[in-house]
Amino acid sequence: MSETCRASEWQSHGRGTAYCLSLLSTTEWLQINIPTMDLNSVKSPLNFIQHLLDDEAVQVLGNYESWWQAEGMAISETVDRAGTPWLRMFDELGRRRDEILFPNCYWQMLRKGYETGAIWRAGEGRSLKMHYLIDYFTCFFDPGLGCPYIVSLSTTVPIIKYGSPEAKARFLPHLLRRDGTNWQGATWMTEIKGGSDLGSNVETVARKVPQTSQSAEELWLLNGDKYFASNVGAEVAIVAARPEQSGTGVRPVDHLQDARPTSSPHGLALFLVPRYRDGHAATSAPGSVPGAIATGSPDNRQLNYFIRRLKNKIGTRSVPTGEVELRDSEAYLLGNTEWGIYLILESLNLSRVGNIVGSVALAQRALADALRFAEARIAFGKPIIRQPLLRRQCEQRLEELRQARALMWTAIELLDEVWSETPRYSDRYHLFRLVTHLAKYWTAELAVQLAKWNMEVHGGMGVLAEYAAERWLREAMILPIWEGTPHRQMLDGLEVMERKRAHEMLFAELAPFADKEELKVIASRVERHLRLSSEEKEAGIEDIFRDLARFTARALAKGTE
Ligand SMILES: Cc1cc2nc3c(=O)[nH]c(=O)nc-3n(C[C@H](O)[C@H](O)[C@H](O)COP(=O)(O)OP(=O)(O)OC[C@H]3O[C@@H](n4cnc5c(N)ncnc54)[C@H](O)[C@@H]3O)c2cc1C
Repeated sequence: MSETCRASEWQSHGRGTAYCLSLLSTTEWLQINIPTMDLNSVKSPLNFIQHLLDDEAVQVLGNYESWWQAEGMAISETVDRAGTPWLRMFDELGRRRDEILFPNCYWQMLRKGYETGAIWRAGEGRSLKMHYLIDYFTCFFDPGLGCPYIVSLSTTVPIIKYGSPEAKARFLPHLLRRDGTNWQGATWMTEIKGGSDLGSNVETVARKVPQTSQSAEELWLLNGDKYFASNVGAEVAIVAARPEQSGTGVRPVDHLQDARPTSSPHGLALFLVPRYRDGHAATSAPGSVPGAIATGSPDNRQLNYFIRRLKNKIGTRSVPTGEVELRDSEAYLLGNTEWGIYLILESLNLSRVGNIVGSVALAQRALADALRFAEARIAFGKPIIRQPLLRRQCEQRLEELRQARALMWTAIELLDEVWSETPRYSDRYHLFRLVTHLAKYWTAELAVQLAKWNMEVHGGMGVLAEYAAERWLREAMILPIWEGTPHRQMLDGLEVMERKRAHEMLFAELAPFADKEELKVIASRVERHLRLSSEEKEAGIEDIFRDLARFTARALAKGTE
């Protein structure tokens, strides 16, 4: 029996079913199997979120989970421990290539999620849910791998919404391929001076090329540097840049003379930048990298952006993050220049929900691993899961995880309602924004805390690089930072409450199932807070924002489960 159990250690376990504990006697094993705790449900992503899925999703995601258990987990571990990507900038003849190299098994793992439908299912109908569900399963097994899928979605959606007919015809069929050979997307906003204040710190300049009678499409050339560029090597990226001059309502900027061109985010626009040039434009930019123009891939396509180097990261090693140089890079405007900041925020909304999903999945994984260890590790004569303190901690963390799951699902459902909106947005969009700021902030914090606690449960083993516990903590550390730091979530959440009264919509949603007294207290705390001076409002937002996030998660868990 113990052999069978070992082989199926990661198989799904239904409510109250016995879990394999090959180190224990039958009596001990039976004592642990207490149905009321329902802790076993966290050991499989399918078991934990099955109640949210329809039959087709159960089938698709069940197969995906089985693949991860059979093959993906080993590949993921190899990539994390030994397969960190590297960059080959030149070929042997000195031609610039900028190739990202991974072990072959990496591409197999990456393709699996694309094949399963991380992108094409989103392009098929009006719903983005399957994308986020696939992301959930992916991140349970490899949190970094969620990144290529989410940035590819965040590239595909703006093309669907704002792309010209030419851009749609050129990019969408490749991004939406079903056989795993997709073109990948990427979202590059951040520059070296900082990512929180894009309005001040994006210095990449976009210059419009005068249109000729032959060129059907409006073409721009981008010059600048992106300091954090994840999924670098992608076939097409969305890139924030500052149009050089306007006539379009955007303030003129002299990039070279003014290091802080304008603090107005409305000076930004969003562009599509393909990996290879079309060759429409002359390529003699004053700031070009010497020799870079005469570059080519084996089939003689010229690189359109350059990878300066790859980052050496503590986690998310299954996505390459690099520094990108844009040198007269051919680019296509998305939407119009006045809407740039809205388009950037819309794409951030998509990846913030991805971050929420990744955080809850990683939190589940940390709890699952802690349980697995606690069931098998003996101290003071019994498995540590049966020590009252540890058992209580597990139950409390399961409860927090369920609340986080409810918050996550609400963010996904609201996004599904509003993702196709364009400015001016509806009230539901502003409600979605508030829920997303609360959820991004709170679930990322939970993931870090659970990953740290999992390490504690593993004791000394938790700190050793040869086991998984330290990996989950490394992977978790990025979750509060990318897609906007906790400060950003709090301040943007404050803004949407102040300007759009989004908290009132939130309280109305929660009223049917929230504790009435608690609701009254938090509602009046928020109102009192909003009456403070600007300085005090910002300075004191943390406590109330955290309490509001926890209250929302609690109420949603009561209402939806
Ligand atoms: C591994 C990795 C991959 C990434 N991939 C991408 C990518 O693909 N594309 C992309 O565009 N970006 C990417 N980023 C960048 C990421 O989005 C930024 O790191 C993040 O937005 C924060 O920006 P920053 O690091 O420049 O910090 P800064 O903006 O310099 O902020 C520093 C600190 O100041 C705080 N702060 C700023 N303003 C305020 C305020 N008003 N009040 C209080 N505190 C404030 C911040 O919260 C933060 O704690 C990546 C980052 C990492 C680490």
